Amino acid sequence: MAEVKYVFVTGGVTSSLGKGIISASLAKLLQARGYSVTIQKLDPYINVDPGTLNPYEHGECYVTLDGAETDLDLGHYERFLNVPTSQANNVTTGRIYQSVINKERKGDYLGKTVQVIPHITDEIKRRIKLVGSGNKFDIVLTEIGGTVGDIESLPYIESVRQLKWELGAQNCLVIHLTLVPYLSSTGESKTKPTQHSVKELLETGIQPDILVLRTDRHLNADIKRKVALFCNVEETAVIESVDVSTIYEVPVKMHEQGLDRTVLRKLNLSTETEPKLAEWKEFLSKLKNPKHTVKIGIVGKYVELPDAYKSIAESFVHSGAMNECEIEIEYIHSEDINENNLSDQLSGLNGVLVAPGFGARGIEGKVLTAKYARENNLPYFGICLGMQCAVVEFARNVLGLEGAHSTEIDHKTRYPVIDLMEEQKSIIDKGGTMRLGGYKCNISKESKAFEAYCKTEIVERHRHRYEFNDKYLEDFKSHGMIPVGINPDSNLVEIIELKGHRWFIGVQFHPEYSSTVVNPHPLFLSFVKACIG
Ligand code: GLN
Repeated sequence: MAEVKYVFVTGGVTSSLGKGIISASLAKLLQARGYSVTIQKLDPYINVDPGTLNPYEHGECYVTLDGAETDLDLGHYERFLNVPTSQANNVTTGRIYQSVINKERKGDYLGKTVQVIPHITDEIKRRIKLVGSGNKFDIVLTEIGGTVGDIESLPYIESVRQLKWELGAQNCLVIHLTLVPYLSSTGESKTKPTQHSVKELLETGIQPDILVLRTDRHLNADIKRKVALFCNVEETAVIESVDVSTIYEVPVKMHEQGLDRTVLRKLNLSTETEPKLAEWKEFLSKLKNPKHTVKIGIVGKYVELPDAYKSIAESFVHSGAMNECEIEIEYIHSEDINENNLSDQLSGLNGVLVAPGFGARGIEGKVLTAKYARENNLPYFGICLGMQCAVVEFARNVLGLEGAHSTEIDHKTRYPVIDLMEEQKSIIDKGGTMRLGGYKCNISKESKAFEAYCKTEIVERHRHRYEFNDKYLEDFKSHGMIPVGINPDSNLVEIIELKGHRWFIGVQFHPEYSSTVVNPHPLFLSFVKACIG
């Protein structure tokens, strides 16, 4: 069995250059050439995972099938590669220190002073190699979060340096992503920040093998040659990444410049088979040549930061392309919705999705949205809290249970139609303690959900503490809100539908986490179809 090859992606100059997209794109190209690839993200913050972070801080929290709360870049990895990731694919400084400190308490380092080097760096290297263990992958791509030069990233960069030395140049390479800004006053693209960033990396002992330059315009050969010369990399290893209209175009652009070929050549792997990108390109062509347009509202309370709803937005890109439909997303702040402006806010939409969330802020706007959609036969897709809001609305306005609520918001409500799950009642810790990851759900055949999935047994990912209170089940059923999806082991309600409505579905799980380019999620596909009408 050949040795596993390691590719590291670091970033310089500024954050948010899209290391995740470059990593996912390269992985896609290598996968399309027949290599088995996985991607890992190392995050330099001290939180054990991003589960306890406010979405305003870090965007969406992405949940894997095995129930890990992870960085949103893992969502890109899955959407590009169509292969599930797991807990091992996202490691934070918090998690590294937690293991080292646990070992220290157990006495594993007895007699030794525990230090960043070698103990923390050894743990980082162990985690990197762990994803590559078991001969599952030919190539492991590891994205280092943050920017070179950050104090927090230092142990990671040092671990990469050590691994490069241990594994040798043919088994390990570093791609450094930087920014080449354009100065309109002089009409020039400037390479100095890139030169400085590479110097910074050199100071830590790492010579990057490949440079990817983010830029808003094409860079001429002279600029690339200059970067190659000053940064000590081959000319063919200087790749430009010009802004594109969709992230899904990046693999094609990287391939055009031979990024995958250069990586394989440097790793001494065969470049004989060209990547099979026909399916990918067909998706791009559908995405760019839509036959219909629909406008869908996403109602949520984090709409100022669209990254908070990343997976939902991407699910619409996948399902839109498959339906040959351009989806215009209108983000609507749930705090801005009230009785008086409800119809103004929602009347121009072909469908509405009420987003997941936590806590009381903006909740009444979400409940009103469910009411409007129910009464006006407007396609409604409620995800997690979005389902719970539809249940609360139905209880209040159809079942006549005045003041019905979720006990998350009103713990004294007379009608707790959404209530804390039994197993959650004794839990005190906030981190990693929700009902997380894949759980089974059985779908009844008489439902729109079944029409979408075309099967009765599914597994979907979860991230919640509250549930539909089945004390009220019969009342809901007899009035037309039907639980069409049930967990076979716990009996929890997973999907509700409104009888007689064009398309009104609420799901307790998160379908958005499992939509990919190749496999758009069936519920999103069906919802978009309903919005097209
Ligand atoms: N806050 C709700 C719960 O914990 C919904 C969670 C969500 O939307 N992800 O059950």
